[in-house]
Amino acid sequence: MATENPFVPVKIKCPFCAIESTQRYIKARMFKAEVVEEDSHVAVYTWENPEFAAVRPNFYHIWHCPTCHFCDEKEVFRGEDSSKGKLELIKEKLLIHSRMPSSLIANMGSKINFDKDNYHVDSAILAHLLAIHEQELLSQNMRQFPKLARFYLRLAWLYREKATLAIEDEKVPEGFGSFKEYLEGFRDAWPDIPSEENPALETALARYRDVLNYAGDNDVKFEINIMNLIIAMLRRAGRNAEALQMLRGVFGTATRARQAARAGLQKGINPAANQNILNFAAGIIDKTGDLVEELSDVVFKEELPAAKEAVMKMGPVDAKTVVDKLRELKFSDVTARRMGKKNVKPSRMPTKCPNASSTSAPRLRRRSCPYSARMKRPFANVWRRLSAALYCAVRIPRAASPICSPSSIAPIRQSGARSYAAPACQASVAYPSVKFQSQPC
Ligand SMILES: [Zn+2]
Repeated sequence: MATENPFVPVKIKCPFCAIESTQRYIKARMFKAEVVEEDSHVAVYTWENPEFAAVRPNFYHIWHCPTCHFCDEKEVFRGEDSSKGKLELIKEKLLIHSRMPSSLIANMGSKINFDKDNYHVDSAILAHLLAIHEQELLSQNMRQFPKLARFYLRLAWLYREKATLAIEDEKVPEGFGSFKEYLEGFRDAWPDIPSEENPALETALARYRDVLNYAGDNDVKFEINIMNLIIAMLRRAGRNAEALQMLRGVFGTATRARQAARAGLQKGINPAANQNILNFAAGIIDKTGDLVEELSDVVFKEELPAAKEAVMKMGPVDAKTVVDKLRELKFSDVTARRMGKKNVKPSRMPTKCPNASSTSAPRLRRRSCPYSARMKRPFANVWRRLSAALYCAVRIPRAASPICSPSSIAPIRQSGARSYAAPACQASVAYPSVKFQSQPC
């Protein structure tokens, strides 16, 4: 029995130069996505027939006209795309560029080895780059952001596959040391040309943000799907704090959609559609709540060492100041709030004597002392003062002496200490976890 070929050849006229060429797509029923990564990239395909295990269907997403080098999705070649007006604007420019042998379009287009059934990743990369470059011939306000975002993301996948599958260069063009070097040779014509995964992913992220910013009143499902994709891409790029911020945005959008849908249902407006949105939004809210917690923990853990250091440098400040200063220092909101709550909540603040000496602020006057409010409540912190004094007396008897000189009892901040540790006079306090280093007075 003959092996069924997964490739379906299609003879079709180019929508730009009108010259017929043979394009192809892959029968979807012959493979399935086995492992899908968080940004929708299919890492592993399984084929009905293992003979085709090396075929990567995503390589064939972009069709390429070998005559004018127009590159786009098959729907555009078939006339099923709705962006006809914009295509006309590209057409004129592309036909001029494709006739100039030194142009980027003619150069890259001539390197695409399109006739081979088993396409090499380099040819697929070139086809995607051309498709992007041709879309970017349009002025900024005329560009199709969803399409550009999709192309950049797919391009990032191709670079990822080339790296993870360790695919060697197909054929390095003459005069260059590698395929990457060849691509970077186009920097004059295309300064930001992405030649590896991360820049492609970053630009995809920017274009998906453009989709959200410029597309006006989107369908809420569409909007949340894009936001979720952005979150996945941010997490992949290790930008967890931004991902958390976007996740909160998803939560807010879903909450607003649920409220609007409820209001619509109460008024009897479009019940079926509103019920549908209500169910969708409720599902997103449930799922997002857990994810926010999970991602908050990840972000806090990442930022904790730097946040601790920043708090130590602040000296004795109250919880609100810690939160405000950490926010100023661009720490994420979750880290600022948690540090405010856990590390320096008022009950654990050192009750430093207003007349205590320190190396940085000698002899604070009572009125200007940040703890003067505490001093007006002499019984409020009696137990803490007593226990601190006792601790000092036992652990650092010399530092607790009222005759200590400022230089000998300067605050000692050791790594790992959990407090500002400003032992100065008998009223100074120490946490049990703080490591003091007593010096002779
Ligand atoms: Zn053409």
